Amino acid sequence: MIIAVDGPAASGKGTIARALGRHFGLPHLDTGLLYRAVAASLLREEADPESETDALAGCGFDDYLLDDPWLKTDEVGRIASIVSAHPLVRKALLLRQKKFAQQPGGAVLDGRDIGTVIAPDAEVKLFVKATPMIRAQRRHLELRKLGVFASLDKVLADIRARDERDSKRADAPMKPAPDAAILDTSFLSIDAAVQRAIAIVNDRMRPPETPEPPETL
Ligand code: C5P
Repeated sequence: MIIAVDGPAASGKGTIARALGRHFGLPHLDTGLLYRAVAASLLREEADPESETDALAGCGFDDYLLDDPWLKTDEVGRIASIVSAHPLVRKALLLRQKKFAQQPGGAVLDGRDIGTVIAPDAEVKLFVKATPMIRAQRRHLELRKLGVFASLDKVLADIRARDERDSKRADAPMKPAPDAAILDTSFLSIDAAVQRAIAIVNDRMRPPETPEPPETL
């Protein structure tokens, strides 16, 4: 079973995807990390993220970079959303994601284009969303816990800018697949959101009920 989880930054998609992986015993891939690794490579080299050639060179990153906590920062996330708009970057990362999705036994992947591009045949597709203000509040709180002090207005502006770039790009824009279940986490606790996601997966995987045969005399 392939479970595709898409949605914007701080919607809860990563937490939900990880929890689904644990619950259903499936390996999980956070595909955003791949774009973040490209971004981090470019930042290290002081290369230009707007240049498709520079960004493509960043796709040859070493896998150990994926474990670097720096990748999770907003600075890297912002650059990731710039490099991810380059079609050649998306193409360079495509096969790795498709292979992960198609491994025997299935997988859970989260990102922006899993249900539309990476695994359009996924048995279950979820699009996780929440209002920009709620996502900004979550991110703001997370940053404060990490000792990073940014104003809520700044965090909200960053979230809106990232949504705009991710949903307006020409190649694989962020959007729900037509057959995705929409999960709005705006007013749900983490636990409630995870339970709702598990219920959606169980529901989608339930075999269709066979109608009772008509009674005969
Ligand atoms: O999910 P995360 O915030 O880590 O993703 C960082 C950036 O990588 C996103 O803003 C988006 O631009 C890009 N991304 C993407 N396609 C994916 C996953 C992430 O374009 N499947």
